[in-house]
Amino acid sequence: MPLLTRMLNAPLSIDVRRGAVASLGELLADRRIVTEGRVAIAVGPGQGDQIAEHVRPSLSSCEVFHVEGGTVEAAVSLGSRLRAGSYEAVVGIGGGRTIDATKYAATLSGIPMVSVATNLSHDGICSPVASLVHDKGKGSFGVVMPLAMIVDLDYVHAAPDRLVRAGIGDVVSNFSAVEDWLLAADECGERVDRMALTVARTAAEALLHQPGSIDSDRFLTVLAEGLVLSGMAMAFAGDSRPASGGDHEILHAIDQLFPDTGNHGELAGIGAAFCYHLRATRLGAGEDRLEEILACLGRHGLPRFPADVGLTAEQFAEAVQYAPHTRPGRYTILEHLSLDEGETRKAVHEYVQAHGG
Ligand SMILES: [Zn+2]
Repeated sequence: MPLLTRMLNAPLSIDVRRGAVASLGELLADRRIVTEGRVAIAVGPGQGDQIAEHVRPSLSSCEVFHVEGGTVEAAVSLGSRLRAGSYEAVVGIGGGRTIDATKYAATLSGIPMVSVATNLSHDGICSPVASLVHDKGKGSFGVVMPLAMIVDLDYVHAAPDRLVRAGIGDVVSNFSAVEDWLLAADECGERVDRMALTVARTAAEALLHQPGSIDSDRFLTVLAEGLVLSGMAMAFAGDSRPASGGDHEILHAIDQLFPDTGNHGELAGIGAAFCYHLRATRLGAGEDRLEEILACLGRHGLPRFPADVGLTAEQFAEAVQYAPHTRPGRYTILEHLSLDEGETRKAVHEYVQAHGG
């Protein structure tokens, strides 16, 4: 009989709640991730040190490493320190940058990684992709997905609001990413993994309609689980397709052309809204979704327009023009419309005028 199913890679455990880090030692031992007690802990600048101290008593022995920023260099240096110390596992504690650098280091040194997220700024907290800075800008690198994932809501509440709410933009951008995927299927015959698409879109749908704000545990749980599901959708698909379309091309272009404007999730949200504007005005589809996305971003105080992240309409148009170069081979609404410079500027002005109030 043929095997009428498939195996999907997923983390061994996902724990989103208040006080979750207290069970880290138990998780490592119970799941036999660590049997001899050789654990490395990688912490970033934020609350990492404090959490490391908090979890230390639950581990028989561990060594703490500081990760200096989310660069390839920092990740490679951590990777060689991990290899030299023959650790059984590494626990990455921190925000997106620390976790991405640790994922890359764990992949280089061939040991499993447990991800402990202290903010919810993007879906890299549990994905097979690491976004790291190198000499020519920022790049996405394929890595092994974290083996287990912990989000402790006590620490998320203590993180800067801006870094927590940014993840909303990243999850909501899944809508635009899956529309781009379906467009690529229609126009170029690209294969769509419906399982991955469903997971990515359902995560966004749940968040879009979730009342409350980042002050409530209930909302934070939906947000954290949405980010985890986005990461898993990417793992199922084998690439970032379900969570990265024209929206992310625009964000990468802004990062390259005008560094240090908004963070990943903030720019993903604006990118998604603008891609929906193009869809609504050029393809006559998705008008309702555009309104829902703008309302959601607005409700949570996330940027929606170029000026909200300190860009002029002209600079934003320049980034939109450049966007397809950031991800060659990915067909999205941007490649589909292939607007020239003048048309792009016009579209950006229309978007700001129609929705900017
Ligand atoms: Zn993203």
